[in-house]
Amino acid sequence: MKSEMEQDLFKVLVTEEQLKRRIAELGGALYERFAGKNPLFLGVLKGSFVFMADLVRACQLKSDVEFIAVSSYENATVSSGRVHINHDIQQDISGRHLIIVEDILDSGNTLAFLKDYFLTKGAASITIVTLLDKPARRTKAVTADLVGFTVPDEFVVGYGLDYAQAYRNIPYIGVLKPEVYAGQ
Ligand code: 5GP
Ligand code: MG
Ligand code: MG
Repeated sequence: MKSEMEQDLFKVLVTEEQLKRRIAELGGALYERFAGKNPLFLGVLKGSFVFMADLVRACQLKSDVEFIAVSSYENATVSSGRVHINHDIQQDISGRHLIIVEDILDSGNTLAFLKDYFLTKGAASITIVTLLDKPARRTKAVTADLVGFTVPDEFVVGYGLDYAQAYRNIPYIGVLKPEVYAGQ
């Protein structure tokens, strides 16, 4: 029997198996770049929390973990363009090698803002890792250093990504049936 969440899905875009394989590759690439450098993984809440947990275990670097909470969406499927910091990091990041971990790079507003924000706080380097990249909708000139999967211009959920705060705990990436968000 399909779960109540799965009944809302139109299709699966990235399977659990594909996620696992690709995240192992990303972990390997990060290990090669950052072994011996004590990087700081900085997850962008809430969407990155599942990816973050798997990514840090896939690369076994001596490192620490922080989270920043931002929002720009307000329950709609299109960005408002403004980025709010809802919860800031608690430690000094000057001189640190930052690995920003994002769920999806869409318009680029969030990552363009965060890159500037952490550069002015004195990060030694900033590396952007995004699980998903949706290049079709980019309005800011920002690129990720490492991308898990490039996705088409569809609103995706699962593996940390929400629609109106739900569906984050689906263990893979899928697309909702249009009737689920009709009327927005
Ligand atoms: P931006 O437009 O600033 O690049 O994207 C910011 C945030 O919008 C992402 O981190 C993510 O939380 C949300 N977002 C963008 N595209 C999607 C999508 O297809 N599905 C979901 N669930 N969130 C998205
Ligand atoms: Mg995000
Ligand atoms: Mg969201």
